[in-house]
Amino acid sequence: MPIYEYLCSNCGQVFEKLVLSRDALVECPHCPGAAVEKQFSAFSFKGEQGGVGSGTTSGGGGGCAPGG
Ligand SMILES: [Zn+2]
Repeated sequence: MPIYEYLCSNCGQVFEKLVLSRDALVECPHCPGAAVEKQFSAFSFKGEQGGVGSGTTSGGGGGCAPGG
């Protein structure tokens, strides 16, 4: 989902909001002000690294096997 990060110029609080429309009016949830600035956060930074490399051998394949 398109969740953007906003910074309120009034109180200085940063909050995330789900924006469906590009031109949607976003108001600060901390104060009665709409003076917010859209922040550009990188999605790649979030999450932990791991599981890189090996893991291509071993024949077979995934999938649900019928029966039990
Ligand atoms: Zn605010």
